[in-house]
Amino acid sequence: MSHFPNERTLMCEVGRRMYAREFVAAHEGNLSIRLPDGNVLCTPTMRCKGFLEPDELCVIDLEMNQLSGARKATSEIRLHLEIFRQRPDIRAVVHSHAPHATAFAIANRPFPCGVLAEPELFLGEVGLAPFEVPGTDAFAQSVTPFVKHTNAILLANHGVVTYAEDLEKALWMTEILDSACKTILLSMSIGGPQQLSQKQSRALAQARARYGFADARPLDDPDVDVRSNLLFGGQNAANGFDDDYFGT
Ligand SMILES: [Zn+2]
Repeated sequence: MSHFPNERTLMCEVGRRMYAREFVAAHEGNLSIRLPDGNVLCTPTMRCKGFLEPDELCVIDLEMNQLSGARKATSEIRLHLEIFRQRPDIRAVVHSHAPHATAFAIANRPFPCGVLAEPELFLGEVGLAPFEVPGTDAFAQSVTPFVKHTNAILLANHGVVTYAEDLEKALWMTEILDSACKTILLSMSIGGPQQLSQKQSRALAQARARYGFADARPLDDPDVDVRSNLLFGGQNAANGFDDDYFGT
């Protein structure tokens, strides 16, 4: 092991937690950290994230040149680099197939806004990127329209990616999203969730600032319904939560 031992230890620990939570199976998923020198520490291809060792992690630059690591870096690192390029404030990315969030992703259903307090406070809007073959440039670019205004994106027919100022917080975003999706799926068996009022949802969105989250939505505009998925054109009926959303 040569550089950044703390980041390497943290990445192995987060990998263990991600595997223990069953957010990934076998060699699935990948993690990255933007290092203080501008390069990126990431997980190697074809390794189980539950059993990573610090000295087997890879370092690449933002052009995807591999600088160290015996194994090749994960091919899905293109997705991480696209997020780092677009968001200078982001220092860590978690990609997994967290099953409850992925259930929404494979149904091509956007995460419903205005239902649960915790994701309203800590996630804000969640993107839904169209399907592209994992590991390709098109896959990396599928998230481009959503990255600037979100910290979590469902990847259609694939999984989920979350990102934050450090790796633990990026994992928290996945945990919050997956937990919310699980709760919503449970609620669907007893009639489906009831949506918060416009006033309640706006209050939660405005409270995000107290937790240090920027929110791109025009929260001061009373004509804007923050329960709409604005990332999807603000159309509840077409893309978000409405009477037909849960098939009721
Ligand atoms: Zn994946």
